[in-house]
Amino acid sequence: MTQTRDIHHFEHLLDKHHLKKTAPRLRVLSMMSSRHTATSQPDLESLMHDIDRVTLYRILNAFEEKGIIHKVFDLDGTANYALCSSNCNEHDHHDEHLHFNCTQCKNVYCLNDLNLPAINLPVGFEPHGFTLYAQGLCPKCSKKAVKK
Ligand SMILES: [Zn+2]
Ligand SMILES: [Zn+2]
Ligand SMILES: [Zn+2]
Repeated sequence: MTQTRDIHHFEHLLDKHHLKKTAPRLRVLSMMSSRHTATSQPDLESLMHDIDRVTLYRILNAFEEKGIIHKVFDLDGTANYALCSSNCNEHDHHDEHLHFNCTQCKNVYCLNDLNLPAINLPVGFEPHGFTLYAQGLCPKCSKKAVKK
């Protein structure tokens, strides 16, 4: 398995973003990278019983601020978190890819390969970022729908 290599990768990631390499932080990173969808804080809490809520909250905040993870909202308006691509850094996120909200399983997917086109706003608007959401059925749910 690639377990060991991953740990090195995550240690490097924390180094790069000037965060101390603590066990809970490494756990959160490996948990998030093992998932194919963005994950909400309550879900992370139930996946990692041994990390208390306050610690997890602080970890997610620090990660978001440093450009390691970004926030996306699901259809209920709950914040979900996903790992950033490597070109994010402190206070400067570049996660302008399409996000897909599945109406069936409620999961949020980062479609990292689908970058948003450049959008020119009218004079006077200074955007700090763009988020584009698509909604419908994810591959898993659309497959189930066909079987029925
Ligand atoms: Zn980012
Ligand atoms: Zn789905
Ligand atoms: Zn994303």
